[in-house]
Amino acid sequence: MEQTKNELSWGIRVYLLEIVKGLAATISRMLGNLLDRRRIPTICYPEERRPISIRLRAKHRLLVRPDGKPRCVACMLCATACPAECIYIDAAEEPDKTIEKYPKQFRIDLLRCVYCGYCQEACPCDAIRMDTGIYEITGYDRSAFFIEREALLAGKPMPGVPDVPLPKTLPGLRIGER
Ligand code: SF4
Ligand code: SF4
Repeated sequence: MEQTKNELSWGIRVYLLEIVKGLAATISRMLGNLLDRRRIPTICYPEERRPISIRLRAKHRLLVRPDGKPRCVACMLCATACPAECIYIDAAEEPDKTIEKYPKQFRIDLLRCVYCGYCQEACPCDAIRMDTGIYEITGYDRSAFFIEREALLAGKPMPGVPDVPLPKTLPGLRIGER
């Protein structure tokens, strides 16, 4: 049977006890958070940042040979594997005959990239990695999200990323060189 307003006690009708209980919960939570900041689930971003995994697939970089040339041999495997079709490579003949080609242009459109990591998986030369730890990429227009060859070659791994051995088949590179 439905309870009518007249059947409620005076204490319930003024909600006094419920208001006091609500205030007690709010104040105890506020004091707890003030006294122990570890209880607060939010952080003061961007001054504070959460630690990220070294396995995070972040902004790409291209690796270089000891002589400063790109490791990339412009084989197009990464561009072929890319589901977003956001890798553009312009291949050119490499004067060093031990290396067939090199990327005259290498551009990644980060607005289309879905950070799947297929490009680094497909690369036979370990020439492209996504270990920079950079995941905040902003810009005022679309061109800011085109990452060009020189910027990719200047990329650095984030601290803590382990050194991965070079593939033994990298063209034009003696084993042990980095
Ligand atoms: S991470 Fe995926 S979508 Fe992005 S460039 Fe590489 S293959 Fe393409
Ligand atoms: S980054 Fe690797 S897969 Fe892509 S073109 Fe260069 S060598 Fe080939």
